[in-house]
Amino acid sequence: MTPDRRTLLRAGLSATAALASPFGPLTTQARGAAPELPPPIEGGVSCDLDICAAAGEDFGHIVRAQPQMVVRPKTSADIGKSVQWAVERKLKVAARGCGHSTYGRALAEGGVVIDMTEINAIGDIAPDRVTVGVGARWPEIADPALASDRIKVGAGTTWFDVLDAALKHGMTPPVLPNYLGLTVGGTVAIGGIGGSSSRHGLQADNVLELQVVTADGTELTCSRSFNADLFDAVRAGLGQCGIITRATLRLIRAPERVRRWQLYYPDLAALVSDQQRALDDRRFDQLQGAVLPDGSGGWRYMLDGAIFYDRGAPGTDTSLKGLSDIRSAAQTIDVSYRDDAHAFAKFEALLRSKGHWTNPQPWLFTFLPASRAEQFARETIGNLTGDDIGPFGRVTFYPLRRDAIRAPLIRMPDETTVFAFNIVRIPASNDAKQVEQMLSSNRAIYTRVRDAGGVLYPVSAFPMWPDDWQRHFGASWTRLREAKQRYDPHNLLTPGYNVFGA
Ligand SMILES: Cc1cc2nc3c(=O)[nH]c(=O)nc-3n(C[C@H](O)[C@H](O)[C@H](O)COP(=O)(O)OP(=O)(O)OC[C@H]3O[C@@H](n4cnc5c(N)ncnc54)[C@H](O)[C@@H]3O)c2cc1C
Repeated sequence: MTPDRRTLLRAGLSATAALASPFGPLTTQARGAAPELPPPIEGGVSCDLDICAAAGEDFGHIVRAQPQMVVRPKTSADIGKSVQWAVERKLKVAARGCGHSTYGRALAEGGVVIDMTEINAIGDIAPDRVTVGVGARWPEIADPALASDRIKVGAGTTWFDVLDAALKHGMTPPVLPNYLGLTVGGTVAIGGIGGSSSRHGLQADNVLELQVVTADGTELTCSRSFNADLFDAVRAGLGQCGIITRATLRLIRAPERVRRWQLYYPDLAALVSDQQRALDDRRFDQLQGAVLPDGSGGWRYMLDGAIFYDRGAPGTDTSLKGLSDIRSAAQTIDVSYRDDAHAFAKFEALLRSKGHWTNPQPWLFTFLPASRAEQFARETIGNLTGDDIGPFGRVTFYPLRRDAIRAPLIRMPDETTVFAFNIVRIPASNDAKQVEQMLSSNRAIYTRVRDAGGVLYPVSAFPMWPDDWQRHFGASWTRLREAKQRYDPHNLLTPGYNVFGA
C-alpha cells in the first residue's frame, strides 16, 4: 500500500473529501518516505511538508519549529488517540488554535501539532438566568460559579463564533478579547484578557467546566468541584497538563449598545490619575488605555472607557464628570455591542493594507503593581522611540482590580490594583536584526518588570527558561509541577513555553 493511500484510509476521509483537502492522499506523498501514522481517526493526519511548515510558525513569525505531522481531529476521541499514540513514542505534542502566539508557544519541533480548528461545535445555551433589568448597571464581579447562563463549546471555536451564538439569545461571555479571532482553548490556556477584565477577571476565571485530554490520552471532566486540581492546572496553565477539548463558559445578558469615549491627556500623570479615578468609581463597563506614537517623535496619552446600555444613551457630561482630559480632543463612538466587539477588524484591515500584519510581532505583555506603574511606564516609554514599536504599535497601559482575578495560575502583582503594561511592537519591516534587538529589549524590560514586583503575561516574545517560569509562578509553582507529574509525567505537552525544559 502506498503511503498516500494509507493516509487516506487512516484519515477516515472519503476519496472526494480527501482530494479536496490538504489532509488528503497527496499530502504524505510530498514527504517521500512512509512515516508511521497514528491509528485511524475521524479527522485527518498530514505529513505534507507545506502543512508541517505552516504549523512550524505562528503569528509572531519569529520562531520556527516544524512538526513531523499535523493532526486535524474532528472529535475528542481523535485527540485522545493521537495524544496517546504520540506520547507512547515520546513525541512532543502541541495543540494549536489559530496560531496567534507570537513566540512559538503552539509549536512542537519534530513532534505532533494538533490543529484544533475543527473542534468547534457549539451546544445549546443552558439557561439559569441572572436578570439584569434594562437601565440597571451591568453586574459587578460575582462568584462566577453562582451565575448564570452557560454555553458548551469546542475548544477550537473562535470567540467570533462564541459571541454570535450567545448573541442569538441576547447573551455574551462576560469577557471578550480585543481580537475575536482567537480560540477558546488558546486563550483559556493563557488567561484571556479583555476590556471587561477589570470587572469580570480573565476568561479563565469565567469557565465553569472543562473537558481535557491528558497525556495518557484519556478525556477528563473538571470543574471547581470535580477534578479541581486539573481545572486549576489547565486554566492559565500554558497547556502543560492537557489539551482542552470543550469548555462550558459563563454567559451574562448582552447590552444592546456601547458608548465609548477615547479621552486624551497632556501627560502620563494626568492619564493615570483619571484611570485610577474611573477604576475606583466604576463608571465604565470597560476601561483600557494606551500611549501612542504621535507621529513626530512624541506620545499621546489615551483613556478608553465604555458604558453599556440598552435604551437612552449615557450622556457625555454625566459620564465624564470630574475627568480632566482635553475635552476638545475627546472622541465618542456609539455602536451596537456586536460592532464594538468586532472593532479590532478595522485595525487588522489597516495593518494588512500596509503589509504590517504579516511582519514579525515581538510583543511584550506584563502587569505592574499600581504603586510602581506610573514611574515604571514613564521611564520605559522615555527610552522608547517610535521605531521601537513601529508606526501602528502602541503601549497599552490601564488599571485592573486584582480581586476580579481568581484562577490560581493567573499571575498578578501583589497589590489591589495592577496595571497592564504591554509593548505592542509592530515593526514596519521584516528586518531580522531589528527584531533581534527588540527581543533583547523585551528580556531587559521584563527583568526590570520583575524587579519592580511585576509579572509577565505569557503571550510575550522572548526566550523563557524553566527557572524563569518557576519564579513567574511563584507560590503556584508547586501546584503546577505536581499536576504536571500527574497528567504529563514525560513532559511532552506544549513544549513551546519551555516551562519544564526540553
Ligand atoms: C491580533 C492579536 C490580538 C490579541 N488580543 C488578545 C487579547 O485581547 N487578549 C488576550 O488575552 N490575548 C490576546 N492575544 C494573544 C492570544 O491570546 C494568544 O496569542 C493566544 O495565542 C491565543 O491565540 P490562539 O487561539 O490562536 O492560540 P495558539 O496561539 O494557537 O495557542 C496558544 C497556546 O495555547 C495552547 N493551546 C491552544 N489550544 C489549546 C487547547 N485547546 N488546550 C490547551 N492548550 C491549547 C497552544 O499550544 C499554545 O501554547 C492576541 C493575539 C493577537 C495576534
